[in-house]
Amino acid sequence: MIAPELRRALTEALDGAVHFDTPLSRHTSLGVGGPADALATPVDRAGLARTLSVCRAHRLPHHVLGSGFNTLVRDGGVGGVVVRLSKLRRIEPRPAGGVRAEAGVSHSQVTRFCVQRGLAGLEFAAGIPGTVGGWLAMNAGIPRHEMEARVREIEVMSPTGRRTRHLRRERLHFVYRALRGLAPGSVILSVLFSVAISTPGEVKAEVDRLLARRADTQPLDIPSCGSVFKNPRGDHAGRLIESAGLKGHRIGGAEISTLHANFIVNTGGATAADVLALIEYARRTVLARCGIELEREVRVVGRQP
Ligand SMILES: Cc1cc2nc3c(=O)[nH]c(=O)nc-3n(C[C@H](O)[C@H](O)[C@H](O)COP(=O)(O)OP(=O)(O)OC[C@H]3O[C@@H](n4cnc5c(N)ncnc54)[C@H](O)[C@@H]3O)c2cc1C
Repeated sequence: MIAPELRRALTEALDGAVHFDTPLSRHTSLGVGGPADALATPVDRAGLARTLSVCRAHRLPHHVLGSGFNTLVRDGGVGGVVVRLSKLRRIEPRPAGGVRAEAGVSHSQVTRFCVQRGLAGLEFAAGIPGTVGGWLAMNAGIPRHEMEARVREIEVMSPTGRRTRHLRRERLHFVYRALRGLAPGSVILSVLFSVAISTPGEVKAEVDRLLARRADTQPLDIPSCGSVFKNPRGDHAGRLIESAGLKGHRIGGAEISTLHANFIVNTGGATAADVLALIEYARRTVLARCGIELEREVRVVGRQP
């Protein structure tokens, strides 16, 4: 709960673009979890800076949420302010084979932009749902392709909202499914991608090929958060979970997908506790049967109920 005077300060900082006690199940792809004390959607960078400044002044934690395709919110919800950048949606071509996209630009917006202009290099990400900010924070990718290889520079706002910096690729520390080294609470504002000149037809053909492969192998019509675990070196988490006999295993409304064992799907009415219990069950079972400790890819946020 946020005190009334703080609610007023946030409402003022955000020109009203804030909602209180808002269910985050509506803002994450798994569709589970409790409410955000405050859900802020600043309309521009100045509004974001003011929001971060109010948070800092009142020692209120903030959490940045993209489209929530890789986020599992606990049933107790998230304390403090959840900030969404869905109003920062500008995307434009830049000289020398560049595309600058703001953090709230969606995967489909990037794909459309690149297909229309015949810009190659980001086709691999067409089926990775989310925002540009989430792509970068996760170093999202598919086998042999990751964001890291396509980033020339990012623009980041400090956790206090006071400073904005441009960081060139050489200063960024990407690892498998993470971007390290930014101060906790930093907000990625935009990314300069590197692309190559191609033709709309060629870019579209590659996008279509990758999307078709995905549709055959992933449960795309049921709520999920994508891969739950990272692939261990030289192996696949899905293969290990399947070989441990866990496909179709259920706890409450959460189920290990019968199509792709590294996906947990919400079959309807799952709670975050169901999903977390299933994640833990899969981790322990794979460890016991295969001797391999799986590491979670999905980011878990929030408090216990
Ligand atoms: C069906 C399905 C398929 C998927 N396939 C893939 C795949 O092939 N490869 C893959 O890598 N992932 C995959 N994912 C996972 C997901 O699509 C990616 O992780 C994506 O990058 C998440 O983006 P998002 O905006 O939804 O991030 P969110 O889930 O909202 O956030 C993820 C993390 O990024 C941080 N973050 C988000 N925006 C910002 C910002 N502006 N500044 C600072 N931090 C920020 C959040 O705090 C959080 O820690 C899949 C998910 C689904 C549901």
